[in-house]
Amino acid sequence: MNKRVVVYKTLSQPLLERLQQQVDVTQVDLNASDGLARLRDALPDAHGLLGASLPLGSALLDLAPNLQVVSSISVGVDNYDVADLTRRRVMLTHTPDVLTETTADTGFALILASARRVVELANWVRDGHWHKSLGPAHFGTDVQGKTLGIIGMGRIGDALARRAAAGFGMRVLYHSNQRKPDAEARHGARFRSLEALLGEADFVCLTVPLSASTEGLIGARELALMKPEAILVNIARGRVVDEAALIEALRSGRLRGAGLDVFEQEPLPADSPLLQLANVVATPHIGSATHETREAMARCAVENLLEGLAGERPRHWVNPF
Ligand code: NAP
Repeated sequence: MNKRVVVYKTLSQPLLERLQQQVDVTQVDLNASDGLARLRDALPDAHGLLGASLPLGSALLDLAPNLQVVSSISVGVDNYDVADLTRRRVMLTHTPDVLTETTADTGFALILASARRVVELANWVRDGHWHKSLGPAHFGTDVQGKTLGIIGMGRIGDALARRAAAGFGMRVLYHSNQRKPDAEARHGARFRSLEALLGEADFVCLTVPLSASTEGLIGARELALMKPEAILVNIARGRVVDEAALIEALRSGRLRGAGLDVFEQEPLPADSPLLQLANVVATPHIGSATHETREAMARCAVENLLEGLAGERPRHWVNPF
């Protein structure tokens, strides 16, 4: 008998067919009004789950006694209680590496857009305000030659450091759990304590996973340590930053601006104060959202799932047991 898999994210036809050759697939559209109910109905028979963006708590897992593999189409695994999955002997897999470069591009897009006020001024032109040449009121600030502080020097942090050092002649500082001799040698990156980095960097970019040690890592105290002309960029997870404290810092001019791809609540509510601030560039969690990268992530997730269900050790196994 084939193993049964519930897919709760849209897959390309070739990937769906590849999966269907080896397992019985139930597709669930979580955006549909009955999506969650259909997922619940399918869980009792499921050996595998494939998807993303769904917090998978114990209430759902209790419905799935036959579950063997949860294959997440993401690198971050903050939607899962890893310890609970391990207790249940359910493999959790993820999709690192294939999204690293694209997510670093998103980080740099936010650095440039915030520094050069690209979104604000493009909207200003669109709204018909460009009648004469610009003066200082519309100037931005340079990126090249400035200091970038990277918090979380992992795969994405390293790709960001490469762009900054090689492409923009930036000085790179970083803070991580451990020092990274490779990044120091290749990008001239220098290790700093969190406090020292916040005080020295012109741009602070967050690339840590969301975990107990990083939730609320950047709060009022940390924002107060940043230079008033600095820009905060968050491509990690919304809850790494205390959003209320950030709003206050941006409103009061304590910070020059912020480029944000992730938020405490997603989708970002239309009445969020962040959207009232001209010095905020907000994107809808597009870190890895290109056609090529999302397909590569889904392919990686399908491979992880099939390897796990076949009793092999998946390449990207988060909770090996
Ligand atoms: P990674 O290779 O594991 O890198 C994460 C780095 O964060 C590690 O180097 C780790 O340091 C460091 N770190 C962890 N906890 C820390 C702490 N408390 N203080 C300082 N540094 C800490 O992961 P990645 O592939 O670069 O991805 C990073 C995160 O980016 C993901 O978990 C995900 O949440 C986010 N992401 C977002 C998007 C998006 O769409 N916006 C897309 C992709 C990823 P050590 O190595 O020293 O332990």
